[in-house]
Amino acid sequence: MKIPRACLFLAGTLFAAGTLSAATPIRTLIIDGQNNHDWKKTTPVLKQILESTGLFQVDVVTSPPKGGDFSTFRPEFAKYRLVVGNYNEFPTGDKWPEDVKTAFERFIDNGGGFVSYHAADNAFPEWPAYNLMIGIGGWLGRDEKSGPYWYFKDNKLVSDTTPGRAGNHGARTPFVVVTREPKHPIMRGLPEKWMHASDELYSRMRGPGKNMIVLATGWSDPANRGTGHDEPMLMALTYGKGRIFHTTLGHDPAAMACVGFITTLQRGAEWAATGKVTMKVPKDFPAADKESVRQ
Ligand code: ZN
Repeated sequence: MKIPRACLFLAGTLFAAGTLSAATPIRTLIIDGQNNHDWKKTTPVLKQILESTGLFQVDVVTSPPKGGDFSTFRPEFAKYRLVVGNYNEFPTGDKWPEDVKTAFERFIDNGGGFVSYHAADNAFPEWPAYNLMIGIGGWLGRDEKSGPYWYFKDNKLVSDTTPGRAGNHGARTPFVVVTREPKHPIMRGLPEKWMHASDELYSRMRGPGKNMIVLATGWSDPANRGTGHDEPMLMALTYGKGRIFHTTLGHDPAAMACVGFITTLQRGAEWAATGKVTMKVPKDFPAADKESVRQ
């Protein structure tokens, strides 16, 4: 029997797609080496969270220490589909060399994925493309020149041009994360509200906020040095052909043990790399009034 060419083509396509998802993990690069947080502890946790899905294969590139020789620090972005930022120069560390910045911009512009994890949004206030990628940032001298404040008011995202410094948080405490975009692939199937394990709740974040969807917020309690606003916690952005998932969560391994952190990081990373989310919401996902952590 003669098999029509179209069927052969279809079978080949299906086989290729199946092979891709089963055997070709998303090559991922975590960048660390300088951070006002304990990156030596948090990078292995990020790697484990991503690799435990079976979807990602994670390498790590560690920059020289503060003041070190950056002449050989040249991350090979082209080998990867996803970069995870666990780097910042807070308070007086090193900027990346100009050609590394250019290569990173090109990588994202051409369709690469980026995850901005916790204090990665403190980094590089003077680098316009980086701030377009993360949407909002804090500290390191950011102020009204960095862009407006962004937060939710009356259930709508607003920008506020009031002058002032950017970046703040109170004492670490559990807090409720509220889903704002339930139809976005990263958030689909997640509860409207869930209790995050004890963590910093960032507030007073400023930036260009372009091509930015705020996926989830947390209420910044004035009794804990907060603003009284619903502050952005999780964001999805685009830059050129690239996608960015920005999570402000995960100060330390204890906060990263929250199943809400784990799940949104995995799903956000998959979306940033591929534009889709195939991972299911786990059964131990936290409820509105109850934390859930994995040891
Ligand atoms: Zn922190």
